[in-house]
Order: sequence, then C-alpha cells, then structure tokens
Amino acid sequence: MTNSSLSIKERLKRHIQHLAKTRCHLFYEKNVQEILAYLESEMQTFGYKTYRHAFGMIDKNAINVECIPQSNEVTDIFLACTAHHDSFINTPGADDNASALAVLLEVARNLVNNNHADGIAFIFFDAEELSFEMLRFLALLFLYNYDIEHEKDPKRKKFLEKCRDEYIDKNKDLQGKLSLDGSKYWIEERFSAYRNLKAVINLESVGFTDVKERSQQQIPNYRKIPSVGDFLAIVYLSKYEWLVRELTSYFLQYLKLLPFEANPKDTKFARRSDHARFWDIGLPAVMLTDTFEYRNPHYHKPTDTPETLDYSFMAAQTKWLIKALPQLAQKLSSQNNLIHLNKQC
Ligand SMILES: [Zn+2]
Repeated sequence: MTNSSLSIKERLKRHIQHLAKTRCHLFYEKNVQEILAYLESEMQTFGYKTYRHAFGMIDKNAINVECIPQSNEVTDIFLACTAHHDSFINTPGADDNASALAVLLEVARNLVNNNHADGIAFIFFDAEELSFEMLRFLALLFLYNYDIEHEKDPKRKKFLEKCRDEYIDKNKDLQGKLSLDGSKYWIEERFSAYRNLKAVINLESVGFTDVKERSQQQIPNYRKIPSVGDFLAIVYLSKYEWLVRELTSYFLQYLKLLPFEANPKDTKFARRSDHARFWDIGLPAVMLTDTFEYRNPHYHKPTDTPETLDYSFMAAQTKWLIKALPQLAQKLSSQNNLIHLNKQC
C-alpha cells in the first residue's frame, strides 16, 4: 500500500508504532532523541516550520518543539494545539501520550493546506511527567536500593538503608508531584512571542476505550459521569465554556464528547496536564482526555502498549478536530468575535 492511500486510522497506527517507546531523559535519552526527530521530520514533510527550544534538566537537554505553518510567523498564531512528548519512566506510553502526538500529527497533516487553519500552531512539550529533580530522586533511590541489595557487610547495609530513608524523607514533597516543566518554561520564555495567541487545546491520553459496563471509574468529588468508558472528556473551567461550545458546534457522528467542568484547584484530575499552566495565566484552555487511570488499567505501566488502543476512537477525534479547529481559529482571529464569544458566558 502506498503512503497516500493510507486511511487516517492506518496512519495513526503507523505513528504509534514509531512513538510508543519509553521516552524519558536520564534513563532513555536515545529514545527521546528518536521521537523528537520523528515528530520534526513528519511535520516538516507535511509543510510546517519546526523549532526546538531547549531548557533545564541536564545541559539544557529538555526540548519543546514548536511547529508553525510555512506561510506564517508566531505572531500570526491564534490557536495552539499541544501535547507532551515524554513518557513516564517505566512505560512505552502508547496512550500516555503517543496517542495525542499521533492525533495531532494527523490533524496537522490534514490542515496544512487549509487557509482557515494557518493561525494554528502545534506544540510538543517535554518534561510533563517528571522534572529533572524528580528523575534525579528516582535515579538515586534506584542506586541506593541496588547497593543495599548487593551489600554483604551488615553494618554498611544498615548505613545505606539509613541514608536512603533520610533521602526519601528529605524529598517527600517531590514524590507523586507532576512537574509540567515544559509548559512552565514555554510560558516563561516563549509565550510573549505569541502575542496573538487566544486559546490552547491540550491533548492528554486520548487513545483508550472500554465498552464494558463500569469500565469508567467515577472521578472523586465530581458529578456522576457515564459508567462506560467510550467517550472523550473535554475538561474546562466554567469561564471558558464558550471554547467548549465552539469546539462542539460541529456535528459528530461517531464520537461521544463529554464536557467536564473542572474545579480550578483540583490536582487529582483536572490539573493533570500542561493546560493547567495556561489556566494559571488566564489563557483559555481545555484538556481532551480519555481520563487516564480512571479508565485505563495500563496507566503508567509497562503494559501501556499500542495494541491496547482504540484506533477508530482516535480517527473519529482526528476527523472532528480537522473540522472544528479551523472554524475556531477563524473566530479567534477576529478580536470582535472573541469579545462576542466571551460575552456569551
Ligand atoms: Zn500524560
């Protein structure tokens, strides 16, 4: 089969085959570099300009990639579609977050010749999962445990155990904390260049479904949601409801969308990806998600692999975004329309 005759679903599969490998600095640097090269070469082949911006971690080796339509500059961008490209340390991260990268690649490929979409940028963030501090913490913990396991002298073994326990205690605050470092850096260093940016659509784990009853867990402290895990949630703050309305105004035949109003302070679910950084600076943003561990039993596990994903679900999202994003970008490009949209809420 030639490249041009592949369906969106087949193309998504091909992207995920390339992208689903442990993408984590410190332990899997080679994979990170391969993924960055893949994202850039695909986007360049489609016709986008790509820019790397390095920051933090060791020798500034964390990298965000910005992709802009060939005919435009960052000052012409009204809408950004984002997804993190790193994975957690022990998983190929097919759902989290290769699924989002694959959908955005296909959306970008289909929009490149659409004049109404030339105000849309695609940004791939690094270091969403773990900051360098957290990686260093885990690496040292691993080394302590390795030494303890192989130490024959009981006195020294005890000493190493004490060191490890003190280290864990000292870094209590780090454990379990998400870092969102790529988007943090982007807002500090790059946001001001995008002076016409008006909204962000962030994709976070968008590839897993389960049609069995009770496959969808309820999210603590929120209203009841359907118990079958076959929908895509759009997580938003009430003041950005207009953005959800705009996105969902296009009729969707095959995709179930669930608008999910977030508590802005909720760290257990609503703030669990890069869009939270945009909420913090008052830029309208939503997260599209399959709800990660509230549905997917493979979340942050070695079993988060390509064969567990629902490619029809991802293809339906891709087709929806190809229609909905240019409409939204057009509205955002007019300041008057933006004021009008805001007035509706
Ligand atoms: Zn993620």
